[in-house]
Amino acid sequence: MESSSQRSWDALVVGGGACGLMAAVTAAKRGLGVLVLEKNAAPGIKILASGGGHCNFTNRSADAGQYLGESAHFMKSALRAWPPEKTLAFFAEFGIGAAERKHGQLFVASGKAAQIKEALLTALDHAGGKILTATAGIGAHREAEFWRVETNRGSFRSRELVLATGGLAYPQLGATGFALDLARELGLRVTETAPGLVPLTADDSLAPVCASLSGLAVNARVSCGKASFEENVLFTHEGLSGPAILQISSYWRPGMGVEIDWIPGESGSEPVAEAALRLARESSPKRLLATVLESILPGRMLLLVRHVLGNRQACLEKKMAELRREDEKAITAILHRFPFRPTGTRGYRKAEVMRGGVDSAELSSGTLEARKVPGLFIGGEAVDVTGWLGGYNLQWAWASGHAIGEALGK
Ligand SMILES: Cc1cc2nc3c(=O)[nH]c(=O)nc-3n(C[C@H](O)[C@H](O)[C@H](O)COP(=O)(O)OP(=O)(O)OC[C@H]3O[C@@H](n4cnc5c(N)ncnc54)[C@H](O)[C@@H]3O)c2cc1C
Repeated sequence: MESSSQRSWDALVVGGGACGLMAAVTAAKRGLGVLVLEKNAAPGIKILASGGGHCNFTNRSADAGQYLGESAHFMKSALRAWPPEKTLAFFAEFGIGAAERKHGQLFVASGKAAQIKEALLTALDHAGGKILTATAGIGAHREAEFWRVETNRGSFRSRELVLATGGLAYPQLGATGFALDLARELGLRVTETAPGLVPLTADDSLAPVCASLSGLAVNARVSCGKASFEENVLFTHEGLSGPAILQISSYWRPGMGVEIDWIPGESGSEPVAEAALRLARESSPKRLLATVLESILPGRMLLLVRHVLGNRQACLEKKMAELRREDEKAITAILHRFPFRPTGTRGYRKAEVMRGGVDSAELSSGTLEARKVPGLFIGGEAVDVTGWLGGYNLQWAWASGHAIGEALGK
C-alpha cells in the first residue's frame, strides 16, 4: 500500500486547528483525498484551551461588523455561506448543545471544549480524511501541477495546498509563522501583525497601583479612537486586562491613549459621578469627599484616584461643602475620562489572537484561494481578519475553513 508521503493527495492541509480541520472535513465529505499535517502531538490544542476550556465556539450575532482588518468586507462572503446557525447545526449533529452567555456568546453547553475537537476528528474520520500529527511543515513549492510540502517527516505531494497554521498568538500552544513566511515567499503581501485581544501594560508610575488592586474587576467603558466597549476591566500586576481591555487592545496602537469611564452611564441627564457629588454636597455637606467616593467606587479604587490626584489629594479629606469646583471637576474627569497611556501589550504569549496576517486583497473572498498562486488556499487566523472577543475568531475559522473545503478540487 502507498504511504502518506508516496501518495499524491488531492489536498494537503497544513495545520490541524479549527480552520484546517473544518476545511479537511468539508473537502473529504465531497470525496477528495485530504491529508492534514499537524505539528503538535495532537490536533486542535487551541480549541481545548478556548473560552477557558469551555470553548466559546461561535457568536449568535457574528457578522462583518465585529471583525478588524484592512478590508471591512472581505469576511462577508464566507460568513454568509457559513453563518453561526451552520456552526450550531454542524456540532449539534454530534450532540453538542450551546449555552448562551452575554453578548450572544455561545459556549459548549457541557462546558467541555474537547467535545468540539472530538466532533471534528470524528467527522474527518467518517469522511475518509487523514491526519498526521507531530508533522511540521517546513516549506512548500510547486512541482509542475503538484505542491511538494517538506516536513520534519519527509515530503508530501498534493494537487492543492491549504495553509491553516493560524497566527503568532499563544506560541506555547503551537502557533508558528509558517503560513505568513510561506505566503511572503510565494509573493503574497502580509499586513503588519501584532498581538490582539491582549492585556495592556501600565507605566512605572501606574503599575504599582494596578498591582495593589490586582484581581479587582470593574465594569467600565473603555475607548480608543472610535472604538468603545463596556465590559469588565481587570487590574493586574502589570497593568490592565479583562474583556473590555482585551477588546480595545485590538484597536490600540503604540503611542495612543485609552480613555476609561469607571462609572459608565448617567443618573438623570448627568454622568453618575457628577450626580453623586452634587447630591452629596446638597444632602450631606459634612461628609468627606473620600467617604462619598468610597460609596460609589468598587473595591479599593480610591487608591487609583489618589494616585492620579498626586499632590492635590488633600482635597479627598475635605468636607463636601468645602470642596472647590476645580477639585470636583478633576475627580469627575478621573472617574469618567481616566487617561490610560499603555506602554505596550503583554505580547503574543498572552494574546488570544494575532492582528493582521496575509493581506485579504491577495485572496478570493469566496474561496480564500490566492489570486496570484492558483491551488493555494489560506484561512483562519493566518489571514488579516481579526474578530472581537466572544466566539468571533472561531466562527471565522469555521467559515473560512468551510469556504476552502467547498472550493478545493473545483
Ligand atoms: C487561550 C485562547 C483562548 C481562546 N478562546 C477563544 C474562544 O473561546 N472563542 C473564539 O472564537 N476564539 C478563541 N480564541 C482564538 C481562536 O482559538 C483562534 O482564533 C482560532 O483557533 C484560530 O484557528 P486557526 O485554525 O486559524 O489556527 P489554530 O487554531 O492556531 O490552528 C493552527 C494549527 O496549526 C498548527 N501548526 C502551526 N505551524 C505548523 C506547521 N509549520 N506545520 C504543521 N502544523 C502547524 C498548530 O499547531 C495548530 O494546531 C482563543 C485563543 C487563545 C490563545
